Amino acid sequence: MIDLHCHLDLYPDPEAVATRAMSEGMYVLAVTTTPRAWAGTRTLFSRFSRIRVGLGLHPQLVRERHGEVSMLCELLTEARYVGEIGLDGSPEYADSLSTQRSVLERILAACAADGGRILSVHSRGAATAVLDALEAHPKAGLPVLHWFSGTSKELDRAVRLGCWFSVGPAMLRNDKGQRLVSAMPRERVLTETDGPFATEQKLPLMPWDVSIAERWLAQVWNTSDSDVKERLAGNLKALTTAPPLRR
Ligand code: MN
Repeated sequence: MIDLHCHLDLYPDPEAVATRAMSEGMYVLAVTTTPRAWAGTRTLFSRFSRIRVGLGLHPQLVRERHGEVSMLCELLTEARYVGEIGLDGSPEYADSLSTQRSVLERILAACAADGGRILSVHSRGAATAVLDALEAHPKAGLPVLHWFSGTSKELDRAVRLGCWFSVGPAMLRNDKGQRLVSAMPRERVLTETDGPFATEQKLPLMPWDVSIAERWLAQVWNTSDSDVKERLAGNLKALTTAPPLRR
């Protein structure tokens, strides 16, 4: 199983969660929300061979932490994965949108200048603005849009721009999410939880709860659970073995 967007460092006992995820044979991308968390999070999970850490600056923190973008750019040479980054245009965060935009521009430009990265990208309430930024920085790397919630038109544009998608139980339990997922190219879809922020029946999702997303995918794709698992494993391999460039 694959959790390509999980805030693994933010569970009350991250090592216990990591240990269980490894015993389930999982691959996990542990995204961070601030570059200050990078070094500690990497150290924390260094003994787990199937956990990768993303270097991030969450758009919801940019109002207070925009100054940390320099730190992110300095650390970039150490990171293969960048995330969580992006834009949040929902009412609570819209006032910082122009700062968010300039932070994202700087990160994408830095990634482009250093050969590109695999990017885990937040786009809630700001899909068009995120796609504008990605279009302006075609060499920034391979964007994986996490929990995409834009319109179907915005989705079409994301597909044309070469974006990938990580989808989780919280997205797949509603009709809109299912419709969006059914329109995504299957060879560019991976699973995620966004735990512990995303919840299921008021409990934080755990990395292994991607099994819920796998079952939804089997329904949406009208195929078997084993076919879903095979496709997702193939997709992860394609994502991580190719250079981080859009195709
Ligand atoms: Mn997240």
